[in-house]
Amino acid sequence: MFADYGLHERLLKALSTLSFKEPTPVQVAAIPPALEGRDLRVTAKTGSGKTAAFVLPLLHRLLQDSKPQAGARVLILLPTRELALQTLKEVERFAQFTFIKAGLVTGGEGYKEQAAALRKNPEVVIGTPGRVLNHLETGSLKLGDIEVLVLDEADRMLDMGLSEDVLKIAKACPQERQTLLFSATAGERGLGQVASAVLRDPQLLLLNRRDDLNENLKQQIITADDVQHKERLLQWLLAHETFEQAMVFTNTRVQADRLAGVLRASAVKAYVLHGEKTQDERKLAVERLRQGSINVLIATDVAARGLDIGGVDLVINFDMPRSGDEYVHRIGRAGRVGQDGLAISLICHTDWNLMSSIERYLKQSFERRQIKELQGSYQ
Ligand code: ADP
Ligand code: MG
Repeated sequence: MFADYGLHERLLKALSTLSFKEPTPVQVAAIPPALEGRDLRVTAKTGSGKTAAFVLPLLHRLLQDSKPQAGARVLILLPTRELALQTLKEVERFAQFTFIKAGLVTGGEGYKEQAAALRKNPEVVIGTPGRVLNHLETGSLKLGDIEVLVLDEADRMLDMGLSEDVLKIAKACPQERQTLLFSATAGERGLGQVASAVLRDPQLLLLNRRDDLNENLKQQIITADDVQHKERLLQWLLAHETFEQAMVFTNTRVQADRLAGVLRASAVKAYVLHGEKTQDERKLAVERLRQGSINVLIATDVAARGLDIGGVDLVINFDMPRSGDEYVHRIGRAGRVGQDGLAISLICHTDWNLMSSIERYLKQSFERRQIKELQGSYQ
């Protein structure tokens, strides 16, 4: 129960208004040490509730100990504008019964307006590294009063080449701050380097366990002869499966774009998301999916990371992910709210080794499925 953590009553009131009843596993693991002021390095898959895991402890700190004269006391960094905006909304929801203010500092939006908003002295500043650095350099943002620095989606910030900016920003914050680093995957070696540069004696919380997967999720594989065959299978599946929202994963941008063309030709309402898309295009895709004007999102792993898309109930691995961790991460998006979900992987003969290693990793074997109309030449 959230009340067990001794969180401020205004936060408990917000939690009950938002019908957050029980903390999720990452919240159970992270909230107590975060409240104690420890540095944390947390890995937990998308949709596991990481935002509240850091927002609640930091709002609690601000409420316990108000410092009206201070500048920004909390800085939250995210890789993209849309994630920053999403986090701002989440902070505002939890802070709805408090006087705590939060400000947004992201690229692509009015610099002057942001500088003016910063002059109002929000306790919480949420932003993307590049723009935060700009404001720091021009003096419209000061970090001398920062007590908590949060690096959310840290793996993705690294993927996007933002680690230098992140390190510069961390250096500009007081050394005795608390730092909380969150990521969806354990990340590559680079993440460890950033972590050791910014964290002090961190507690490591690794929640990306294979048994975290939704029990109501069915996992199937369908064999395919080649890419063209996979495309026909995909078209068939999107036409015959019942689903609200589907995500189709590819390993490359080129393949993602190709599929978009293929699906458009078959009148599927699909949208592609990959690293080369602009922030506006990414935002638009998520909005359209929410509104239901599209129901299929084609994405690469990097592009999909961190997006909070609620109702995905079908995940198709057009290309098999390259590791068990990535597989868990992708299909963890299906049936997030405890509903039924279906994950289908299309397997060519070159993917067999990979697939069986993922089965071993998950200690689970996938259901083999055949589609009669589109039977391949090998099984
Ligand atoms: P992550 O950052 O790990 O991808 P989010 O923090 O975005 O996950 O949370 C995913 C969704 O789950 C959000 O819509 C959030 O409001 C909801 N959520 C998080 N924690 C809880 C909880 N304890 N009870 C109910 N809903 C929750
Ligand atoms: Mg998140």
